[in-house]
Amino acid sequence: MNNRWLRDTIRNLEPYAVPVVRESIVINANESPYNIFDFPAVRAEFFSRLRSLASNRYPDPMAQELCAVLAAYAGAAPDQILAGNGGDEIIGLVLHTFVNPGDDVLIHSPTFDVYGIVAASLGANVCAVPDDHDFQRNADVFRKTVHAMQPKVTFICNPNNPTGHLWPLEDIAAIAAASDNPVVVDEAYVEFSGQDSAVSLLKKHDNLIIIRTLSKAFGLAGFRIGYAVAGKRVINALTLTKEAYNLNSVSQLMGIVAVGHSEEILRQTVPTVVANRTYLTAELNRLEGIRAYDSAANFILVKVPDGPAVTAALKRADICARVYGDGVLADCIRISVTTREVAELLITVFSGGKHYA
Ligand SMILES: *Cc1c(COP(=O)(O)O)cnc(C)c1O
Repeated sequence: MNNRWLRDTIRNLEPYAVPVVRESIVINANESPYNIFDFPAVRAEFFSRLRSLASNRYPDPMAQELCAVLAAYAGAAPDQILAGNGGDEIIGLVLHTFVNPGDDVLIHSPTFDVYGIVAASLGANVCAVPDDHDFQRNADVFRKTVHAMQPKVTFICNPNNPTGHLWPLEDIAAIAAASDNPVVVDEAYVEFSGQDSAVSLLKKHDNLIIIRTLSKAFGLAGFRIGYAVAGKRVINALTLTKEAYNLNSVSQLMGIVAVGHSEEILRQTVPTVVANRTYLTAELNRLEGIRAYDSAANFILVKVPDGPAVTAALKRADICARVYGDGVLADCIRISVTTREVAELLITVFSGGKHYA
């Protein structure tokens, strides 16, 4: 293999490393603690319909039944939805649809790595507006940057991963209004935010593209179901670059069944996670030297005096968390919020309890 075989724009890319998880308490990827098959009604309906699934037939290329239930759930029309193989696929589709090499793509920083990685691999010029102190994003500064730069695509992660920071919808609307180009609002965690979705802004701002997923609040990360909500013409444009059969029939079926039971699923998962988030944030902030940032998502970013020591202590306690090495996130650890028992264990570890050397 000769390195010069690689496309110019990916020669300097590092592989997106997902570490092997050896610990038994896994809180590094913001997954739900609930398995969808623990909901008896979901389980029964899924397996009953799976029995008659035609394995020899290609899936519906436009996932129409799934888009119809997602539309009802998200408060949009079915032709305003595009279903994909996880939200990650939708991020890629947006960039492949709109970005030429050399175009500016704007993000805020720190945020979800995928926007910058895919944009760079397409030869885009990735520009970042850094957060203010304590990972607060400044909507005014961001809006003015969008207005002056007119990036080809702007990404907003709301609530932001990994900081948990939430921008109110007025700020999103003002940023959308400042741009003549597509503005993406990644709402992977919106169900935990207590705030309405930016879908309600689509009527007035036809450059908005909202990305959602069933990986987080619905506990379906393994099934890879994400979707875009946007104006009909934007949805048609995104379809230009999509693989014909991007979402397999088993995942389509699971999406249809799960979203059909959304009330029951979310009633069990969201309030518990939100209550544990409030509890854990308050308890961690009582500890000397530790700062847990307010979060509107199902995770908390925690800054500690000695990142490597806490990381080692978490490992000894059989916990896998997301650790950040350098830059503004040095000594920061992102923990997914799950059950009360895990919250109690985390408090022990962060307080230098028996697992903390
Ligand atoms: C988890 C996540 C996604 C989507 O994940 P998929 O599993 O691909 O649906 C998108 N954006 C952010 C910020 C996320 O954290």
